[in-house]
Amino acid sequence: MSDDRTMLFSDFPLAAPILRAVEELGYETPSPIQAKSLPALLEGRDVLGMAQTGTGKTAAFALPLLSRIEIDRRGGPQMLVLAPTRELAIQVAEAMQAYARHLPDFHVLPIYGGQSMEPQLRGLKRGVHVVVGTPGRIQDHLKRGTLKLDQIRSVVLDEADEMLRMGFIDDVDEILGRTPANRQVALFSATMPDQIRRIAQRHLRNPVEIAIQSSTSTVKAINQRYWAVSGMHKLDALTRILEVEDFDAAIIFVRTKVATTELAEKLEARGYAASALNGDMNQAMREKAIDRLKRGTLDIVIATDVAARGIDVPRITHVINYDIPLDTESYVHRIGRTGRAGRSGEAILFVAPRERRMLTAIERATGQPITPMRLPSQSDIADKRTAAFKDQISEAMESQDLAFFETLIEEYQAEHDLGLAEIAAALAFLAQKDRPLLPADAPETPQLGFEDRRDGRDGGRDHGRDANREPRRPRGGEDIARVKYRIEIGHAHGVQPKNIVGALANEAGIESRYIGAIRIFDDHSTVDLPEGMPADVFQQLKRLHVLGVPLDISEAGPGGHDDDRGNRRPPAGNRRFAGRSGQDHGHHAGSGKPRRKPRG
Ligand code: AMP
Repeated sequence: MSDDRTMLFSDFPLAAPILRAVEELGYETPSPIQAKSLPALLEGRDVLGMAQTGTGKTAAFALPLLSRIEIDRRGGPQMLVLAPTRELAIQVAEAMQAYARHLPDFHVLPIYGGQSMEPQLRGLKRGVHVVVGTPGRIQDHLKRGTLKLDQIRSVVLDEADEMLRMGFIDDVDEILGRTPANRQVALFSATMPDQIRRIAQRHLRNPVEIAIQSSTSTVKAINQRYWAVSGMHKLDALTRILEVEDFDAAIIFVRTKVATTELAEKLEARGYAASALNGDMNQAMREKAIDRLKRGTLDIVIATDVAARGIDVPRITHVINYDIPLDTESYVHRIGRTGRAGRSGEAILFVAPRERRMLTAIERATGQPITPMRLPSQSDIADKRTAAFKDQISEAMESQDLAFFETLIEEYQAEHDLGLAEIAAALAFLAQKDRPLLPADAPETPQLGFEDRRDGRDGGRDHGRDANREPRRPRGGEDIARVKYRIEIGHAHGVQPKNIVGALANEAGIESRYIGAIRIFDDHSTVDLPEGMPADVFQQLKRLHVLGVPLDISEAGPGGHDDDRGNRRPPAGNRRFAGRSGQDHGHHAGSGKPRRKPRG
């Protein structure tokens, strides 16, 4: 992409309403596959494209072919898209609808097996311009005579190799054979096995062949990691990463102009000095943003590929690919914004399940591995905030004259007969109460999808909504054996982990750091508590209510660390259950105040 001339969508003779939709969606420039297939398809040529999902191939065929639709012509569908799966058919139909939103009275109909015929028949009867379907179901309709192909002017085979792999290729062959001879065909496939080539030879006329060579490029000393998106919103993941990573300045890449401004606003609202950088901004505005980034009055820019080209700001320590790029070259350009002037750099890439192939393609193109990363947990964030707070204390002691305050504290200590640590703790609380060291109300989400799942399976683990509190690490790295308990309150009652922690801590006196994972299900929840619960504490828990619902706690099986499960007999005076049960009260008991303590 070193060409300084960047193609724009408006450089192609797309129909005006289509162009307008693309502009509104915020696409800045055509992806490589689009730049090549748009002119060919607009000219009416057949196309044989080697392209996978995530390269922008849907728009590559949809934009030009929709531009050629005659909206007023009725009498049967003008365009047919064959897709291997129901998911893809729906996705393509939705994309078509989005691109055609300014075509008045435009209709696209997805047709797939597993859905009752009724709505499909109704749709077909009403009249549609485009049908997107799986080959089997299309065949059903052809046999019933409910779908006519005599008005078809273009056919798209999407993910042809997948259709082959799923055993649809004969259907595809047959369906193509039933379309008018003068129709245009676009065939897209991630790979080109012989059978696909044969289909192309039989049904395509002198096609333009399109393949995007991803030239291998060398990448500088940049540490590359990826996060497999799942179980948590990308925005939440991003804020966790920003909080824990040591960054000086960062550049975050998104796919569209719209997304640059949206994300910039969200990060600003979270207190970051962030700004958008996109092609809608004039040169002066863009230069101003880059200048602010250089000077350090701005720490984060959220950019599109084009707008960020050539940025040379040595302060940039991190490049975050919030949206995966549509081609490998863009990736190389993006991460090249860090590691400048001989410094090292960090690159982080968000990869959704459907984008796995692009991850592999990038690794192949750069010849370098991108390692999976674990998302920072709440306790990582707490550790980070705690460390920063300690640094602040040290800094104040070094840089300030504290004699006046020392006298004040000595006076206070004498007046109240208290230990210095207690006074200091109260002051620390005052100093950081607006920004708790423990992120309290941030949604707790399990570590999902952080392991390398490149085989594409979605391991069937429980998802965000069920598991929402990680065990906090007790002080001193103490390893606690825990037991899983079941409580009879769940989503249906509107319960949140904090309600449960609150009740266990306040009512039963179990310190919050000893309360392990809490998982909330529809009608019940589970909570991991240290093993060895004294009988009287258990009885007390039995009587607990949360949100007016009796918890009716019972043992649910092994929890957190399930070592040494044979012996659940509580040692007398187990200090983890030092609440109202009588033992080891401490001065908190009976105070009615939460026993939660700031992390030490
Ligand atoms: P696809 O490969 O068709 O599944 O497209 C991948 C994603 O890229 C989709 O979310 C599209 O909306 C988006 N997309 C397609 N073309 C562009 C473009 N030129 N600029 C920005 N985003 C695009």
